[in-house]
Amino acid sequence: MRAVGLHADVVVATSRAYQTTCTLVRSAGEAFCIDSPVLPDELEVLPALADQAAFNVVGLLATHADWDHLLGRYAFPEAPLGCAETTAGRLINEPGDAQRRLRAFDEEMYLVRPGPLSLPGAQRLPVPGKLEVGEHELELQPADGHTVDGMAVWVPWAQVLVCGDYLSPVEIPMLHPAGSADAYLATLARLQPLVEQADHVVPGHGEPLDSARALAILSEDRAYLEALLEVGEAAKLPLARRTGAQRNIHADNARRVAA
Ligand SMILES: [Zn+2]
Repeated sequence: MRAVGLHADVVVATSRAYQTTCTLVRSAGEAFCIDSPVLPDELEVLPALADQAAFNVVGLLATHADWDHLLGRYAFPEAPLGCAETTAGRLINEPGDAQRRLRAFDEEMYLVRPGPLSLPGAQRLPVPGKLEVGEHELELQPADGHTVDGMAVWVPWAQVLVCGDYLSPVEIPMLHPAGSADAYLATLARLQPLVEQADHVVPGHGEPLDSARALAILSEDRAYLEALLEVGEAAKLPLARRTGAQRNIHADNARRVAA
């Protein structure tokens, strides 16, 4: 797991699995942990990493309800989870889904966890809205399209945008069964002014980006989605993201927009 400080109050750890990112944000002695690394050893060292950097984690936030972003409770079992109303709804409507997918991943990779993933009721946050941390406020923006749920977190005093599964340098826009290309495009439009002001953008998967690189990915992703809606399977993938795995995601996307 790699950890980088983006600002005195923002540290990002990137998992070796899926390059899933976990962002610690603090103000005045209180910190939130946004999303999570994936591997057991990474979750085990996360509290020490937070401690050494003096991030006192009092709460967990999830950008959306996909299992690989929900593992923070392994690191901070006492911390309550906060998320968008849409995400809390998904956690209720898909009971056990995150646990089943985590178990499938662990079985595939022969990984052992200290116990089953516990996800007690999440606190519903107002999105769009603000969330106090220490002496500052985080700004929450809806971010749906990849899935039906989601939020992006803007850290105004650090000029950092934590955007969930958008603007990834390693993954093309992925539409889950209930995702939507139109909603995805609307989210990109909503994020754009924040990306323009940002010093750093933290995608759900992949290294933190500067504003210029994130804007370049934003326009590639918009072009890809517009082509997907227009020509389906024949849409060209962004040049730097044409691996076999990304072609499989593209084939799924093409099936979804055709349906
Ligand atoms: Zn994800």
